[in-house]
Amino acid sequence: MHSHMTGDSLDELRGELRGVNLELLELLSRRAELVERVRAVKQARGLPIHAPEREQAMLEELEARNPGPFPPATIRRLFAEIFRASVDLMERGKDEVLKVSRIAGRDDLVFRVKGELVGAGPVLIAGPCAVESEEQIEVAARELARLGVRFLRGGTFKPRSSPYAFQGLGELGLRLLEEAARRHGMVSVTEVTDTRAVELVARHADVLQVGARNMYNYDLLREVGRSGKPVILKRGLSATIDELLWAAEYIVAAGNVEVVLCERGIRTFERQTRNTLDVSAVALLRRMSFLPVIADVSHAAGRRDILAPLGRAALAAGASGLMVEVHPWPAVARSDSEQQLTPAELARFLDEVGWPHPAPRPVAVAGGT
Ligand code: PEP
Ligand code: MN
Repeated sequence: MHSHMTGDSLDELRGELRGVNLELLELLSRRAELVERVRAVKQARGLPIHAPEREQAMLEELEARNPGPFPPATIRRLFAEIFRASVDLMERGKDEVLKVSRIAGRDDLVFRVKGELVGAGPVLIAGPCAVESEEQIEVAARELARLGVRFLRGGTFKPRSSPYAFQGLGELGLRLLEEAARRHGMVSVTEVTDTRAVELVARHADVLQVGARNMYNYDLLREVGRSGKPVILKRGLSATIDELLWAAEYIVAAGNVEVVLCERGIRTFERQTRNTLDVSAVALLRRMSFLPVIADVSHAAGRRDILAPLGRAALAAGASGLMVEVHPWPAVARSDSEQQLTPAELARFLDEVGWPHPAPRPVAVAGGT
C-alpha cells in the first residue's frame, strides 16, 4: 500500500480497482462452480447440503488470517454472505426469483372459477361476515345476485378475538353457503382456519380464504396449496408486503398458482378506522407480482361510511376486485355489525365507486325461496 496519496493517479487507482473487481467476480464464480460440484457429491451420498460447523471453521480461519485493513467483523460479514449465497445455490439452484414474482414479459394471472373470470375485469366478492342461518344467507345471496354479484362470501369457521364470541356454524354453515350459492348461480368463498379442515371446506366451497390471522400459518398455506381450489390470501394484520408474497409463495410452491392477494388493512396507531387500508400495498403488489390483487374495504375500515372512497382508491391503485361485507340485517349481525352494508347500501356503494359492470344476471333462478 502507498503511504501517501499524492503520488497516485486517481485514474490508475480506479483502473486497478476495476481489475480487482473482475478478479473477485471470477473467483466468486469459481467458488460457485466448486459449490455445485460439492452439491453433486453430497446428493450422490445422501449427505446434508448445509454444513454449519464447516462454515464456522472457515470463518474462524479467515478471521485469524485476515491481514487487514478490513476489521474482523467486516470479514466475517462478507464471507458469511458468500456462504449463505452458496447454500442458496445448492438448495434452490440458479432460480433466484420467487414463483409469485412479476417477471418481465409475463402476463397477469387470469383464471376462471365456475366460469367467472378472476384477474381480468374487477370482481366483487360480497356477503355476510358469517353465515348465521339458512334464511340469512339465502336473503343475502338473492339480493346480491339481483345486483349482479357473482362471488358470495360467508364465514363458517370464524377466527374471533374472543373464544366466547360466535365462532361460526362450521360444517352446517358450509352446507348453507354452498346451497345458497348454487341456488343463485354464484361462486362461494369461505375461510379455512385449520389444516385438518381444508379437505372438508374444499368439498363445499369454490374458493378458499386464508384469513389475516393465519397468513403466517405455513402448514395451512401448504395445505390449501394442495387443495386444488383457488385461494384468497389475506395480508396479516402487521405483515409486510414481502411477508405476504412469501406466504403466497408457500401456496404456489405447493402446486397451486390460483392465488389472489388481498389487502385488508394493517394495524396502525389510528383508531378512527379499525385498520388502515394500505393503498401503496395494492400498487406495489401489482408491480411485484403477477397474481391478482383485491382489497377488502370492510375489514380495513371497520365502518360503513368511507367504504366507497376506499374502494375507488383501491381500484385506482390497480386492484382487480373488492371484498365488501353485506348482511340483510347488519344491526343484528353476530359479528362485524358496525361495518356490514345492507344490500340497498351496497347498491349505493357500487354507484359511488362507479362499478363498471353492475348488470344483473339475466337468468331467473329456480328453486329459491
Ligand atoms: C373475513 O374476511 O371474514 C375475515 C375474518 O377477515 P380478516 O381475516 O381479513 O380479518
Ligand atoms: Mn368480518
